[in-house]
Amino acid sequence: MSKAAPSVGTVHLVGAGPGDPDLLTLRAARLVMNARLVVHDGLVDPAILAMAPRGARFVSVAKQRARHTMKQDEINALLVREALAGNDVVRLKGGDPFVFGRGGEEAEACHAAGVPVQVVPGISAAMGAAAAAQIPLTHRENASIVSFVAGQCKGLSEQNWAGLAGVGRTLVIYMGVATAEQIAEKLIADGLSPTMPLAVIENAARPEMRVLRGQLAGLGPLVANEKVKSPALIVIGEVAARGDSMELKSIAEATA
Ligand code: SAH
Repeated sequence: MSKAAPSVGTVHLVGAGPGDPDLLTLRAARLVMNARLVVHDGLVDPAILAMAPRGARFVSVAKQRARHTMKQDEINALLVREALAGNDVVRLKGGDPFVFGRGGEEAEACHAAGVPVQVVPGISAAMGAAAAAQIPLTHRENASIVSFVAGQCKGLSEQNWAGLAGVGRTLVIYMGVATAEQIAEKLIADGLSPTMPLAVIENAARPEMRVLRGQLAGLGPLVANEKVKSPALIVIGEVAARGDSMELKSIAEATA
């Protein structure tokens, strides 16, 4: 080869937060605004992609539950290939890269190939949804423990959630829309009260956000009747009954 080998680029694993571009960290915003190559998930809001400079290259690796446009090892290989070719990569992920984001696997693949990695934290959906719905995840009176779990089909029945939900604790379920009914059954079988309050927060921190409230036994019907769609989070615990008055007030104002 006549040309000198290019220097290796850096892969930035960047949290894009729950949607609203205002919820990016300054570091994430700076990286996006200077990006030459953006590799992004489907959950990343178009308004955030629009912050990239003209001429930036975009690669979508959008994943959905049943339909994978690109397998995880292909994504890893893409990041490594681009970095080894000398390109800095802004790998944008919804929420935080290390909360149900498979950022760990991407970082490991880069390390194995000698590619430098930087991780920029983002506001995970739990924090974004809690803030937007004004549901505190912890509260002196209601919860001093908060857990994040993944509720997708695969392995749901084998997951041991015992003790994660109940009085004095908050359970936040990511990716639980499709399995809402089984989740309620599982928790009630674990001894949780069927009347435990819950909230389903769809499209948190986006203009189309919906906050639905109910009780554990009614979770399946609530999700079905309201046609809840991903992305949505389920928050189970006494804190889910808080923030309700704020919402009723804003609904009353909107319909007045
Ligand atoms: N890394 C992301 C989570 C990716 S898993 C994070 O830290 O937030 C994808 C799941 O995140 C979705 O199925 C949904 O449960 C949740 N999620 C992501 N964005 C959301 C949003 N704006 N509103 C509600 N839930 C969201």
